[in-house]
Amino acid sequence: MSQSDILFDNKHIWHPYSSILKPLPCYSVISAKGVYLKLKNGKNIIDGMSSWWSTIHGYNHPILNKSLKKQIKKISHVMFGGITHPAAISLCRNLIKLTPEKLDCIFLSDSGSIAIEVAIKMLIQYWESLGQNRTKILTIRNSYHGDTFGAMSISDPDNSIHKIYNQFLPKNLFANSPNSKFNEEWNSNDITSFHKIIEKNTLNIAGVILEPIVQGVGGMKFYHPMFLKKVEELCKNYSIPLVFDEIATGFGRTGKFFAFQHANVIPDILCLGKAMTGGTITLAATLTSRNIANTISKSNIRCFMHGPTYMGNPLACSVANANIKILKKNEWKKQVINIEKELDKNLLPLVDHSRVIDVRVLGAIGVVECKQQVNLELIQKFFVKNGVWIRPFKNLIYIVPPYIISTKNLKKLTDVIKKSLDENTLFKSF
Ligand SMILES: *Cc1c(COP(=O)(O)O)cnc(C)c1O
Repeated sequence: MSQSDILFDNKHIWHPYSSILKPLPCYSVISAKGVYLKLKNGKNIIDGMSSWWSTIHGYNHPILNKSLKKQIKKISHVMFGGITHPAAISLCRNLIKLTPEKLDCIFLSDSGSIAIEVAIKMLIQYWESLGQNRTKILTIRNSYHGDTFGAMSISDPDNSIHKIYNQFLPKNLFANSPNSKFNEEWNSNDITSFHKIIEKNTLNIAGVILEPIVQGVGGMKFYHPMFLKKVEELCKNYSIPLVFDEIATGFGRTGKFFAFQHANVIPDILCLGKAMTGGTITLAATLTSRNIANTISKSNIRCFMHGPTYMGNPLACSVANANIKILKKNEWKKQVINIEKELDKNLLPLVDHSRVIDVRVLGAIGVVECKQQVNLELIQKFFVKNGVWIRPFKNLIYIVPPYIISTKNLKKLTDVIKKSLDENTLFKSF
């Protein structure tokens, strides 16, 4: 990769949430193995992000690679309309086994946002089948469910994205998000706003969609499991389907295989994505109860109206199967518990730093909430110079490392975070 490649990238290629006129610098990664990303200059840096929650077993994993090679010799892709194949069948068998018994029918799609769009369409079609025109989704503040229009419309309306597309976005319902933190006392007032909205708008609400326990992009907050219990109760009382977005939290990240297991609550629809292929190829799934699937199928059109071109892509399905095979060895549990223990030890004390508002840890997620926003360009440079890959947003420095990370490399991540807090220039002044 030459300097002219980098210039080309700057001038012509959009990166996530970036400007073409004033792009932030991008670091060129030429290969990766385990927790290490290898940069163009030959330097290895430790990945603290799992490529946005997905590369849970590390890069270039031999079992994942093998599954891809084996599948590519058979078939890389075939349309899913009118055709099925062993990799998809075996993946869906796996997903049904891994999830609560209630979740029995699966729609495969290409990405997390699409899994959410599919869930929203299912909810609307479910009510249409029952002869009701219900088009509102109820969710909570600080939510994030993706970047497509349906997903944006149920993400926090204070998010800047909303302002730009406001005229185009469906108007949904937002209850206050719970203030009770994951491991603190439950405050029963936390359900009041949600209760009022569901009561007042029952006949307009097609479904409730929530990120269970962990609110990700909306602020990296961990809320009290009792909130989910109360939501489940209300959804049952008002006969409104409950959808969980486990796209970020699924496959062990929070210490339970699914975050909703912290609350012992079972949804009617479940969206999965990110870590499903171990960070190899994009793939997502929307699982529903038999009741919802059957009701949709009884509608006037008798079909569920969605069908991505790359639906059930065999390469993606086969690598997802290999990922699940690794998870079934159950090492993830010990790995995540160890990460949690180390983060408790090395990250929590940073709460005393003058720059810090709060530090929180849940499973293999560590968050340092700062008083000021970071200067992304400078802090990124600082992290890379110090041998780690951490990508904060706003005032949040967080890590979601691969489960396989060693205690030593994890310590390096937390040490560099600690060091960054002492650098005034890395933070924006008020
Ligand atoms: C990342 C994410 C999505 C969107 O998934 P994409 O694959 O980026 O479309 C949706 N919900 C949550 C909670 C996420 O973290």
